[in-house]
Amino acid sequence: MEQRRRARFAVAFLLCLSVGRAQPALHLFEAVEPHMGTLVNIKLYARDADRAKAAFRATFDRISQLDGILSDYKPDSELNRIALSAVAKPAKVSDELFRVLEVSQELSEASGGAFDVTVGPVVRLWRQARKEHQLPDRDALDAALSHCGYRKLHLNRPDHTVQLDQDGMQLDLGGIAKGYAADEALIALGKLGIESALVAASGDIACSNAPPGRKGWSIEIEAKNGVAELSNAAVSTSGDSEQYLEASGKRYSHIVDPITGIALTSRIMVSIIAPRGILADGLATTVSVLGEIRGKQLAKKYPGVSIFVRSTASAGLSGY
Ligand code: ADP
Ligand code: MG
Repeated sequence: MEQRRRARFAVAFLLCLSVGRAQPALHLFEAVEPHMGTLVNIKLYARDADRAKAAFRATFDRISQLDGILSDYKPDSELNRIALSAVAKPAKVSDELFRVLEVSQELSEASGGAFDVTVGPVVRLWRQARKEHQLPDRDALDAALSHCGYRKLHLNRPDHTVQLDQDGMQLDLGGIAKGYAADEALIALGKLGIESALVAASGDIACSNAPPGRKGWSIEIEAKNGVAELSNAAVSTSGDSEQYLEASGKRYSHIVDPITGIALTSRIMVSIIAPRGILADGLATTVSVLGEIRGKQLAKKYPGVSIFVRSTASAGLSGY
């Protein structure tokens, strides 16, 4: 079942754990809410429960606002609205949408189109395929591919406008939006005086200052087979462990190769540590498409980025 569906019910809760003696004035609080098709978990250090509660509310509200802008599931999101309003003419967009599209296009250029947010029509066919447990039709994939291509998406920085070359294009920020939302959540917390926090939108995690008296937040990185102690950094993991289609003895990931329109069957898990969530998230998806060798070459171009790739071929499926 898609994770998005599982996250339907609000399960917000507040948990207070007292922290070590080094910083007796600060306590660890934790809350979880469903947003962006997954559960978003926030851990933060605050002086008391009232401050923590206010910080959680403001931050989850900010994430919800970003989902309203960036979601391809919500029909009236700003992203979906420009699929109509920006065809063959420039449409002005919010700072948030512009920022995410700008980083997306940079990644597309840098990766030769391995990362491509115009891949929406193809992604939709694979989503349907996962529901129906049946591979998509090749002709339908070719028709969808004719509406894809990052070079058909144009951004104009001075005006903050977006333009699409064709009708029927569909943008999909599923490979980058959660990392950006985690960054923005930390900014929202910082504005409220919360300087030590961790935001995790399933596989997309970002943190600010280390917990009081500690070197960093301990974050398990499966692809590294270990734990990283991180502060003011982000980690994103992409893989095929949660959303996939099994057919003809293969496991098809929810990430597609934008050149062929075929979902990945390479069975790798990629984790990226980066200074910001937007880059960690985008790069994790990109490297999944490029594979380990080309992915590592690309990652070298980004300061402060570490990359971990692990084969998952032995897990789950057998007999092929
Ligand atoms: P998750 O959503 O599980 O965190 P990713 O960050 O890797 O995983 O994003 C996967 C999502 O990105 C897909 O569900 C789809 O919406 C979108 N996507 C799929 N293939 C690509 C691609 N080649 N480039 C950009 N986005 C993609
Ligand atoms: Mg990603």
